[in-house]
Amino acid sequence: MYLHGTSKINSSGHLEIGGCDTVDLKQTYGTPLYIMDEALIRQRCREYMDAFRASGLPFQVAYASKAFCVKAMCRLVDDEGLSLDVVSEGELYTALQAGFPADRIHFHGNNKTPEELEMAISAQIGCFVVDNFIEMQMLQALAEEKNVSVNILLRVTPGVEAHTHEYISTGQTDSKFGFDIGNGSAFEAVKQASGSRNLKLLGLHSHIGSQIFEVDGFQLAVSRVAEFSLEVKRELNVTFKVINLGGGFGIRYTEGDTPLAVAEYVKAITDAVKKFFAEDYPQLPEIWVEPGRSIVGDAGTTLYTVGTSKDIPGVRKYVAVDGGMTDNPRPALYESKYEAMLANRGLDRAEETVSIAGKCCESGDMLIWDLELPKVNSGDLLAVSCTGAYNYSMASNYNRIRRPAVVFVQNGHSDLVVRRESFEDITACDLVPERIAKQPSFK
Ligand SMILES: *Cc1c(COP(=O)(O)O)cnc(C)c1O
Repeated sequence: MYLHGTSKINSSGHLEIGGCDTVDLKQTYGTPLYIMDEALIRQRCREYMDAFRASGLPFQVAYASKAFCVKAMCRLVDDEGLSLDVVSEGELYTALQAGFPADRIHFHGNNKTPEELEMAISAQIGCFVVDNFIEMQMLQALAEEKNVSVNILLRVTPGVEAHTHEYISTGQTDSKFGFDIGNGSAFEAVKQASGSRNLKLLGLHSHIGSQIFEVDGFQLAVSRVAEFSLEVKRELNVTFKVINLGGGFGIRYTEGDTPLAVAEYVKAITDAVKKFFAEDYPQLPEIWVEPGRSIVGDAGTTLYTVGTSKDIPGVRKYVAVDGGMTDNPRPALYESKYEAMLANRGLDRAEETVSIAGKCCESGDMLIWDLELPKVNSGDLLAVSCTGAYNYSMASNYNRIRRPAVVFVQNGHSDLVVRRESFEDITACDLVPERIAKQPSFK
């Protein structure tokens, strides 16, 4: 397993993260456990901020909170001076509860409800990324009713397809997101928005996909957006102050993944902006980006305890852990690949090839196929790396499995930032009609 950030094997042969021995973390918090390397999260935030400062362009880096949205994470992101993207009232509520400054919150989504728009207007968030005409009309009407002006970006699809898994591509024309540049719908949206009394059109937004390893997709998106911006200036005399290029910067999950350094993505984007907006544009726009995965992905490690195993001679050996698709649905959803090691036996040589299964009643509940490990015993600790993004945030209670705890580790300290769910949490929303009620048979 590749050791990210502060991860290392200590003198006892145990995996250590943020100066905390994972065997001790299991003793304190139990498993499964999400362990987040706080120093690495902060480092990634700073890499983005520093790269943009070096570009000389005005900018905002907005952390896409959907990757991992809990109050402590919002605090870290605020502490590092980033902005924050939310896509639902739940994420907005979390950010506001964490005291995140509303003027640095941006609201995304292809189907924001009237209630969500109201809540965000009342909270006076910094910007709405408007996705479609119905939303634009709804937002205009609500803002008028409240007699306020709201900042908006228009989400456009520039017709760029990122080289990535089909399910996580959104920049192409055939997408549920945004106004298409190619078919004139984006032009019409600019016309409507710039004529709306209560909407202040700041600019455009484009997000071309996720887990992207090259810069050409971003450069192409900038060129399309710039070309469109020039057309809009020519035909409508409307200029944009902000261009948001979304997220999607790739990370290293396994050996085959070859991400660029954060600074290289940022330089490619800012250079492209300088190049394509240079001619005929009154002022270089402010650049916003929205990294999610690349801020938290490699900072997360999930710690499991090994339970049963099943050896099918000549076929394969299944080793089951005390979690699975409930805490990490990505292998089942996207065939995502992960690396892992025995956290309590970091110095032992690999001796067998096993496949890691979860504990859910579902054959698809597999975390890793064909993993080289030392001879695994019941009670060993398995650490799966790179689980910081889209794991806790996508976790479910399938099979009524309780969601794990999350700890931040740094400088030898661990702090619980999400407690493990209790049995009470599991039934907290259940109601039983009086006519079939009975006393609990277990307390
Ligand atoms: C998901 C998403 C992001 C973040 O993507 P990552 O791959 O996690 O960086 C940013 N912007 C938008 C609009 C998104 O939908």
